[in-house]
Amino acid sequence: MNASSQEPFSPAPEKGALSLRPSVLDLDQLQLRELLEAWGEPAYRAKQVWHGLYRQLAATPETLSDLPKTLRMRLSEETIWDPLIPLATLRSQDGQTHKVLFALPDSAQVEAVRMDYARRHTVCLSTQAGCAIGCPFCATGQSGFQRNLSAGEIVAQVLYFARQIAARGERITNVVLMGMGEPLANYEATWAAIRRLNDPEGFGLGARAMTLSTVGLVPGIRRMAHEPEQVNLAVSLHAANDALRDQLVPINRRFPLAQLLEACRYYIAQTHRRISFEYTLIADVNDRDEDAHQLAELLGGLLAHVNLIPLNPTPDSALRPSPRARVQAFQRVLQQHHISCTVRLRRGLDIQAGCGQLRLHRQREANPAT
Ligand code: SAH
Ligand code: SF4
Repeated sequence: MNASSQEPFSPAPEKGALSLRPSVLDLDQLQLRELLEAWGEPAYRAKQVWHGLYRQLAATPETLSDLPKTLRMRLSEETIWDPLIPLATLRSQDGQTHKVLFALPDSAQVEAVRMDYARRHTVCLSTQAGCAIGCPFCATGQSGFQRNLSAGEIVAQVLYFARQIAARGERITNVVLMGMGEPLANYEATWAAIRRLNDPEGFGLGARAMTLSTVGLVPGIRRMAHEPEQVNLAVSLHAANDALRDQLVPINRRFPLAQLLEACRYYIAQTHRRISFEYTLIADVNDRDEDAHQLAELLGGLLAHVNLIPLNPTPDSALRPSPRARVQAFQRVLQQHHISCTVRLRRGLDIQAGCGQLRLHRQREANPAT
């Protein structure tokens, strides 16, 4: 699968940034060296610029004092150093969740979230502007698909938050690809971004500190099984039978549960790594004891962990979260079946931190008829 695939889950060819200026975050080390060599710079400049981007976390080339002034000026005039323009920032009341809406060079918009914990800072990234899958409970799915993000546009979201906390000597410790979009429908750019973040000569974030969440694109899961980086895989399940999953996760009609579970078994056999299954609990839709028994049966014998997530309600849907007692009862059934399972509370509910919600909210403010 590639970025320009005409699959229904990736309907438009990738447009990328409309500007003719190269975006330095889209270049790998070799490409950066080639650019600088074409400008007549010595080979070691590429390493300096690379360190400036990913180690010093420079927000602009002007601050890189080890580069000659002429090169700094050329970089700022002839390249895009940072493709993101922050449009709105929201902080949760407890101050631990920060959500930012960014404009990209072609004015597409994406969201990213920073979640602070006692000793960790997690960034939740977007991989597409919008999403073509159209899950009815998801704000991103409700607002349609604009385009794939480039690798640089994905990486830039992490760098933005990394700069914020670097000032107080802290680092981003975890990245989850759980924001807007379906990462495996933008496979090349997503994996280029993962490798860029993982690069020990650059940002240096361990692969095991990254988690990719997919709606269940079978070819992508099989392909991921052969990637050398040991990124965690999360699969959004939400239903344990095809009739219900067809409704909640429309791509299930293309890749039904039997095929999905076969791909998961293949992934585990190849990587010996556990898969997390995400199950959003929706009142009176998928939260009965019977659903939990079915889920346990589906995952029985698999190296799996289940994350139960009470639905984060969205304005366009009448679906509601399961009440707390139902969540606990559902968890008990899974535990009876010895399925490893946790309840994950969604952070930052007061700031529309469910990805896609802030953008949808701002679209509605700008144009109440949409
Ligand atoms: N497209 C990928 C990754 C982005 S969505 C995927 O679907 O896995 C990340 C997670 O958030 C998915 O598990 C998705 O089902 C969940 N999610 C989306 N909207 C939600 C909502 N309103 N409430 C709870 N979980 C939601
Ligand atoms: Fe897309 Fe994931 Fe939202 Fe479904 S849940 S619409 S796959 S972002």
